[in-house]
Amino acid sequence: MTQPNDPNIELDTDLVVRWLTEAAAEVDEAAGLLTDLDAAIGDADHGSNLQRGFSAVAAALKEEPPATPGKALTLAGMRLVSSVGGASGPLYGTLLRRSGKALGDAERVTGQQLADALRAGTDAVAKLGGAAPGDKTMLDALYPAVDALAGGSEGPGGPEVSAAGSYAAARDAAEEGARATVPLRARKGRASYLGDRSEGHQDPGATSSALLFAALAKVVSGDE
Ligand code: ADP
Ligand code: MG
Repeated sequence: MTQPNDPNIELDTDLVVRWLTEAAAEVDEAAGLLTDLDAAIGDADHGSNLQRGFSAVAAALKEEPPATPGKALTLAGMRLVSSVGGASGPLYGTLLRRSGKALGDAERVTGQQLADALRAGTDAVAKLGGAAPGDKTMLDALYPAVDALAGGSEGPGGPEVSAAGSYAAARDAAEEGARATVPLRARKGRASYLGDRSEGHQDPGATSSALLFAALAKVVSGDE
């Protein structure tokens, strides 16, 4: 039995494929919730968008088994872009494609390498969408999760904390980040059209991002 809190666990391709497959199952289960959240501050399609996208991802991973963790993420990202029409398709697609590229051809990756790759992916999402933390988007779950996986937050002078991160800490940080979007006013995406009426609702994209890290913590601990 692996220890979910051990950041030195090496992830192989099989584990990354299981992660993305578990993410598809989590999205499927939470689709109603994600759509309800999007109904409050958007157009009520976040659940169906991601359900369509991640079921395409799960199918692609079965049909075209990837050779490396990086290729698994890249394939998933490409499928999300091609199957999701909303803003979240290109954004999640960018997250996974950029993260996959950052992993290169490695056959096994540590939690630290995955954290670095996901940070590059999250930075690419921020660049593509022009958003920053605090704008009430998926970034508000992604950055805290990546920081927690890496073992500390990045300050202006580099990482401030050098303690080892963990998959469980990343899951908890993403959930906390998603909850912390409730009082925020949306400054990007469809929800920003509502101005201060976007306050008091949890961001759908931050909520689905937290599901990705919940799925990761689950497969690493062998709980799926
Ligand atoms: P759409 O807004 O096109 O209907 P979705 O409903 O699938 O797409 O996704 C909405 C989510 O996408 C939001 O909750 C938010 O987290 C995320 N999002 C929207 N715009 C941006 C952006 N510019 N940067 C980062 N995330 C964004
Ligand atoms: Mg929407």
